[in-house]
Amino acid sequence: MKKLLLLFAIFCGCTITQAQIICIQDTLVSNKEALYAPYKNLDYSSYLFCVKLYVHVIRKSDGTGGQTVSNIYQALSYLEASYNPYKIYFKWNNQIDYIDNTYNYEHPSGAVFNINNHSDGLDIYLFDDNAELLIGNGGGSANEDLTAVFVTGYFLDNNTVAIPLAKSHVLSHEVGHVLFLWHTHHGTGENTNDPNECPELVNGSNSNICGDYISDTSADPNMVYNVDLATCIWLGSGVDANGDFYDPDEHNIMSYTPTKMHELFYLKTEY
Ligand SMILES: [Zn+2]
Repeated sequence: MKKLLLLFAIFCGCTITQAQIICIQDTLVSNKEALYAPYKNLDYSSYLFCVKLYVHVIRKSDGTGGQTVSNIYQALSYLEASYNPYKIYFKWNNQIDYIDNTYNYEHPSGAVFNINNHSDGLDIYLFDDNAELLIGNGGGSANEDLTAVFVTGYFLDNNTVAIPLAKSHVLSHEVGHVLFLWHTHHGTGENTNDPNECPELVNGSNSNICGDYISDTSADPNMVYNVDLATCIWLGSGVDANGDFYDPDEHNIMSYTPTKMHELFYLKTEY
């Protein structure tokens, strides 16, 4: 099956904090196939790929807290910036589904994916900037089977400045999972339930069948957020099976690098 798109954006500016991006990935998906079905036989270089979007905002039971309308527009602008240049568009009905439940509000988790989820589009659940995960700070998660993502909390830049993750490319990262993207360290620096995963070599010789299956992204052993904020350079090191040194792309939105500022991307179509 032709797998679509793949794109990349950039995370630059980086800092080492405890913020974590949590990704729940499933290889077998039903909603995702439905989302993709109309486009299966198209040449993506010539057609637009439109994804129906639903927005949910989690507030306290009394209706207070949560993301404002302008914040939602700001959040969605990150998606547009990441994906529109590659002819991937999001069609939002401009409706906001408010989930007013103090427990959910205070306990951000994928449990919300089962609330008012749609099978014909992407469901984005936005928690409050101050709603921290159990592990602290914030993060995001994607459930490919439900074509749903959530983003919550904040990221601490240099342990001082709180950057709201709802308005960041963390949202683009999670949506990337729903749109078939793997981490850049897939098969190399992580083990998942993907039966085909295998380590990508630095020389690129197996780049379309291993790693993230995208040939123009460099092999990545998983940077685990260990990137210098000032230089945006990975502080780790390592070699692949050939003894070649890894040189992962710190700017790719599907990599594990800290979020602060994001820029560009490039698209890749693969098998
Ligand atoms: Zn991820």
